[in-house]
Amino acid sequence: PPACVSITQATETGSVYSLDEIQAIGAICRGAGLPLHMDGARFANALVSLGCTPAEMTWKAGVAALSFGATKNGVLGAEAIVLFESGRATELAYRRKRGGHLFSKMRLLSAQMEAYLADDLWLDNARQANAMAARLAAGMDGLPGVALQGPVQANILFCQLPAAAIDGLLAQGFRFYHDRWGPGVARLVTSFSTREQDVDHFLAALRALAR
Ligand SMILES: *Cc1c(COP(=O)(O)O)cnc(C)c1O
Repeated sequence: PPACVSITQATETGSVYSLDEIQAIGAICRGAGLPLHMDGARFANALVSLGCTPAEMTWKAGVAALSFGATKNGVLGAEAIVLFESGRATELAYRRKRGGHLFSKMRLLSAQMEAYLADDLWLDNARQANAMAARLAAGMDGLPGVALQGPVQANILFCQLPAAAIDGLLAQGFRFYHDRWGPGVARLVTSFSTREQDVDHFLAALRALAR
């Protein structure tokens, strides 16, 4: 039987669900008696993209459970599960242990969350990642044979690149997935640690190859 509805925010394609969309899905779930789960591996990137509060993007829109990812935004191997309905807390504690996610000295991993959330570090990190994706997209605009596959809303962008440009970039040491979604389609991801000079270095190489 169906157990839940799960959405990913931001999505694997780099798009972001709007608050209206989450609310609409939440309403359908309520009507069907199904809890709504949010895969938030890129939760912070979506949050700063929408410019809303965590509450607006989750329980106020009908989300019952959140996987609050932190690993892709600066934390080493840790995430939190946030339940907005306490009824499932006991079951979840057993599931966590049976699933092998209760480590010895786990408080040392968990302590990272304190630093992550203090002084808005998590939001600063996400803003940096998103800003570098926007910089990348702006720099690719108008290059011959280069076309973005959609708007850039978070820290992932998909683009069409000339085959020779992909080969050239790889030969220069750049690393990215390509040709999995279609010929010449590449997936570029920026992170909290991506710097302006990294993006500009990539763009300079791409510009020379596209020409
Ligand atoms: C990376 C990713 C995960 C796993 O994230 P961890 O932080 O390593 O647990 C889960 N869901 C999505 C959509 C991801 O992109």
